[in-house]
Amino acid sequence: MKRGIHMVSDTLFFEAHLENVAYDLAVSPPVIYGEEAKQAAKKYGSLDHGAYLWKNNENTVALKNKNSISIAAHELRHAWQHKYEHTRFNYSVPAKQSRFRAFVSRKIYQATYLFNCKEIDADNFAADYCRRNRLTYDLGEVQERIFISRISRISISIGLICMLSSIAYLINVSIT
Ligand SMILES: [Zn+2]
Repeated sequence: MKRGIHMVSDTLFFEAHLENVAYDLAVSPPVIYGEEAKQAAKKYGSLDHGAYLWKNNENTVALKNKNSISIAAHELRHAWQHKYEHTRFNYSVPAKQSRFRAFVSRKIYQATYLFNCKEIDADNFAADYCRRNRLTYDLGEVQERIFISRISRISISIGLICMLSSIAYLINVSIT
């Protein structure tokens, strides 16, 4: 099975895999695309590639287009987390949240995105799915994302350690 043979169009190929991922994960969220997806994802921040919308119980996957199976797999994995591992992945929102609180928590999520276990799990699943189905191109894409986020996590951690040890050093110097 080679993708290059193009027995089916790319769209059909994508849709077949989307169905297959949903079947694997035993989830069936509605999936929306394009402008509709963009509008729906607005309050989650801008739609880069895809998003899983859950905060108002939408349980909807929003995708920019039908180009990337790895992104679809990543977002559907969030639907799986939400359905089956709600507590472990901390899918809960205070019953009533002010607009400000919602804004702050969105910013915190963005700032700590690379360290978030939801995202790491979703990327790992996407890579695993692409590997199992020999989707070489998509696997490359998700592996690159995983690699970059790993490197970033390491550099952020090293940066923090350096900063904290400098602070500890300065405090120590000023005490003695
Ligand atoms: Zn994600």
